[in-house]
Amino acid sequence: MKRRAKIGMIGGAFLLSASIIGNVADTPVASAATSEVQEKPSISGFISHAELSRTLNKIEQTSKGTVAVEVAGLSNQGREIYKATIGSGKKVVLIQSEIHGNEKVGTKALLNMIKEIGNSNSPKMKQLREELTIVAMPMINPDATELNRRGNDMKWAEVVDQFPQLEGVEPSWNYYTYTNKYWDYASTPGFDVNRDFNPDLNYQPQPEDFPNSSSEPGWFITPEAQTVRDVYKNLQAEHGKVDVFVDLHHQGEYVIEGTDDPVTLSLSGVFIPNPDTPEGEKYSKYADDYNVDFSKQLNVAAYNALQQMGNSPFGNISLYPQALDLPGTALGSFALNGSGSVLFEVTGQTQNYGQKKLGQLTKAVETGVYGILEGVATEEVYGLEVEDYDDIPLTER
Ligand SMILES: [Zn+2]
Repeated sequence: MKRRAKIGMIGGAFLLSASIIGNVADTPVASAATSEVQEKPSISGFISHAELSRTLNKIEQTSKGTVAVEVAGLSNQGREIYKATIGSGKKVVLIQSEIHGNEKVGTKALLNMIKEIGNSNSPKMKQLREELTIVAMPMINPDATELNRRGNDMKWAEVVDQFPQLEGVEPSWNYYTYTNKYWDYASTPGFDVNRDFNPDLNYQPQPEDFPNSSSEPGWFITPEAQTVRDVYKNLQAEHGKVDVFVDLHHQGEYVIEGTDDPVTLSLSGVFIPNPDTPEGEKYSKYADDYNVDFSKQLNVAAYNALQQMGNSPFGNISLYPQALDLPGTALGSFALNGSGSVLFEVTGQTQNYGQKKLGQLTKAVETGVYGILEGVATEEVYGLEVEDYDDIPLTER
């Protein structure tokens, strides 16, 4: 069942933003210590780092030059972070997955898409290769992937080794050292890499910027965030700008507001308050580049493509909470740098949801991302109504 989103609810949610931000950041951040042992659901249907390496190499070899795979950087534990480049068009689209290692569907979808866009000679795929430069970065936090958890595998002492000016400083707020029934960050600590971005892409860590909080920028202290930042900057240098940035995540299990319909995935194009408003004034130096209307059009393109699949589950698409102020996310930082930005939040974290509905969720992500790519390649996205974004039903949380 589809229904019009209530603008009033968006306003109400904004008032709650300070207290809900911790909860909407797509998984709990901390829990009390417990010795409870949880039976872990199987994740064997997902892609390991070794399988990713093999598959990308194979795709590159069989693509006859249409897919270029490179190692963009190394994770803190030395695993390769890949980027696959397809196409030579003027519009640049950067897509990443699994910045949280327990959010795995996006990697599966992205690998399928790299293969299809690179290999298919259908007119649609040819058009994508001609009009777009697609840079896909599947599994950008492979150490977390191997641990099936959110945070990377890195100690604060390693940060201080890299940035000696941080000696004696309190660790950043996104440094995990807790233990719960799923993870043992006490013995293998790590950082939420998706709070380590900074809209100033040349930022260097300063002692006075620690520990900071979720509504303040990150620091590029993790090699995973540094790698994505470097890819982004190189694309800017080569092409002028990164037109579109898509980030593939998972969330908890929710329903469409006012219904009992389970959400298949949520979309969003808003991660920080608009720099042109009083709430967003702290971002005013980015106001000229920030283009939330384009982000909304891209979301509408994804939403429309999913609605065309027919009834549920592909129809059960909702808007992620809108009252966010998360400049340390890749989406927040890149949106402020002028990229039209889209968040995908697939239902269910893999540590408890496992690989349920894997085929369906993978298809939903592919459908939405193809809607964006085709919309940009045909330029139809620029004609979409920005206001249609507000008609996407909200998520009931
Ligand atoms: Zn996530």
